Amino acid sequence: MPKRFSVDQYADGILAGNRILLSRAITLVESTLPSDQALAQQVLDQVLPHTGRSVRVGITGVPGVGKSTFIEALGLHLVGQLGKRLAVLAIDPSSQRSGGSILGDKTRMNQLAAHERAFIRPSPAGRSLGGVARSTREAMLLCEAAGHDVIFVETVGVGQSETAVHGMVDFFLLLMLAGAGDELQGIKKGIMEMADAVVITKADGSNEMPARRAKGEYRSALHLFPLGPSGWSPKVTTSSALTGAGVPEVWQVVEKYVQHTQQNGYFQKHRQEQNLHWLYETVRQALEERFYAQPAVQQQLPSLRQQVMDGRKSAFGAAEELLGLS
Ligand code: GDP
Repeated sequence: MPKRFSVDQYADGILAGNRILLSRAITLVESTLPSDQALAQQVLDQVLPHTGRSVRVGITGVPGVGKSTFIEALGLHLVGQLGKRLAVLAIDPSSQRSGGSILGDKTRMNQLAAHERAFIRPSPAGRSLGGVARSTREAMLLCEAAGHDVIFVETVGVGQSETAVHGMVDFFLLLMLAGAGDELQGIKKGIMEMADAVVITKADGSNEMPARRAKGEYRSALHLFPLGPSGWSPKVTTSSALTGAGVPEVWQVVEKYVQHTQQNGYFQKHRQEQNLHWLYETVRQALEERFYAQPAVQQQLPSLRQQVMDGRKSAFGAAEELLGLS
């Protein structure tokens, strides 16, 4: 049975940059045990004044686009030449820690994982998107308190997790492949609209020209979207994680964005809005969990579900009935 640390031990350890205590605290945040959750919240409260001082970057793209390779290349640039401390987290609701998690297989980022200024944490296994999103956001705060000045949140690019990541980062990066048929079909339009930058990956060898062409096409496509409240027009670049070409430039774009939005006040305002969103989101989730945990609701739900499916009861009528049980 692993030793339990006190709130102070966790908080002091995290603030001192102790990776073991950081990892253990993230495990608490991911735990569904009420006692772990309570301890996690106390630790979070204690370190909260030391959070918020990082640049939070969401990175998405379909499997195979080169996310792991790109994150390793950009990450090594950040922790190497730029001397930053980087944490890489993931949101992958379907992941199982034993198999298939995008970051669970650390060998895909082995150089970065071995670097003393990098901290890589796979997606928690076996939880709903809401649960994973919440624990990833809290893990992000813990990583900030531990002194990481850049946080990457990776997502698999095949569903709702992009929206969750977008809701917790300052900058949203979309990785795309050139020459995969109609360039704009690969990813949903909604995700394109969230992007602060699009990076065309694998721009090397025979793929270099198609990548440049794709860059022009994405530029034109993105210009069709109205300018958002950040006042930032999304940038499109090409990069090769293999040769390193274009990788440092991606970070320059992120820095430009931070400068731009700090100057016009959007950066802080956006974070405040995100915090409020998480307040309401957490309340909503907790109420929902408590509601469905009630014995009377659990007892009635199966029959009401069936009646709604059979058309014997309206969805609203059934909902009213369930709500009346609590
Ligand atoms: P992910 O599924 O999005 O994480 O993609 P990976 O990073 O695992 O990359 C998928 C494949 O693309 C692997 O075989 C990589 O070796 C290859 N790849 C990744 N980046 C590059 C690149 O910059 N150039 C080339 N030529 N291949 C790359």
